[in-house]
Amino acid sequence: MRPRRRTVWIMGLLFAACGGAEPAADPSSSTAATPAGGEPPIYETTQVADGVYQFRYRAHNALFIVTEDGVIAFDPISVDAATAYAEEIATHAPGAELAAIVYSHRDADHATGAPVLRDALGSDAPIYAHENALAPLREAADPNLPPPDDTFADRMTLADGALELHYLGRSHSDDMAVGFLPEHGLAFAVDFVAADRFGYRDLGSFYFPDMFEAIEGLLEIPFERIVFGHGPPGDRATIERQLRYYRDLDEAVRAAIADGLSEDETAAQVLMEDYRDWDRYDDWRELNVRGMHRKHRKLSGTS
Ligand SMILES: [Zn+2]
Repeated sequence: MRPRRRTVWIMGLLFAACGGAEPAADPSSSTAATPAGGEPPIYETTQVADGVYQFRYRAHNALFIVTEDGVIAFDPISVDAATAYAEEIATHAPGAELAAIVYSHRDADHATGAPVLRDALGSDAPIYAHENALAPLREAADPNLPPPDDTFADRMTLADGALELHYLGRSHSDDMAVGFLPEHGLAFAVDFVAADRFGYRDLGSFYFPDMFEAIEGLLEIPFERIVFGHGPPGDRATIERQLRYYRDLDEAVRAAIADGLSEDETAAQVLMEDYRDWDRYDDWRELNVRGMHRKHRKLSGTS
């Protein structure tokens, strides 16, 4: 293992970035762990750009980046996932040191397992996260989900600018760090956006109207392709559709409330037909409508 070169890890403001697109994922670079019985593999690693890989474990995606100074691993996911994740990193970046771990946000289903990565890869790599993750994680004192060693407020760059972390305001959480790799025109965003999929259940964790600004802010980042914490990757049009969905949902629920419709009546009438082919239509469409109805009632002070 070569000596750490911490000085290279310069953080600071980054004012401008532009990036081009990379070719589509190369399936020959994918590795997978396949269970018996023809089910999808429990985990798999797919190259998404030169030196950049999506690691999927069950329904969760992480992203790792091989830089001159080592590997940056976004989101260890869980103790079990991190064990496989470390093996996949070692396979795709043989001998590379783990240089940093980044939490997209502090939720346990994405951020647990950093010590497993560190132990497996023989490193004391620092953990980075948004500053709002720090106090809750210190208080939780979960050895498998340690607090970050360093935090940022609005923007941070790592590995000489190979990775930017952006805070876009409150969205699915109040500590969401979006990753952007300017060289590859690639972004990584977790839980507040996805490819043609309804929001999680009744949107209980989502901050509205802040969500609109966060998604608009994401579109200000000059990415061409985007990897998500769940589901398949997308592009700028994917995010434009995501924004349009929440605007349509918001508008439809507002109109229903203006017509005096109850939550049950709104759930029965606001069918979001334009999104019938989206993932989770059958189980989350109604919950999304109900959740939005409750948010509007809360904002207007009625219950
Ligand atoms: Zn989350």
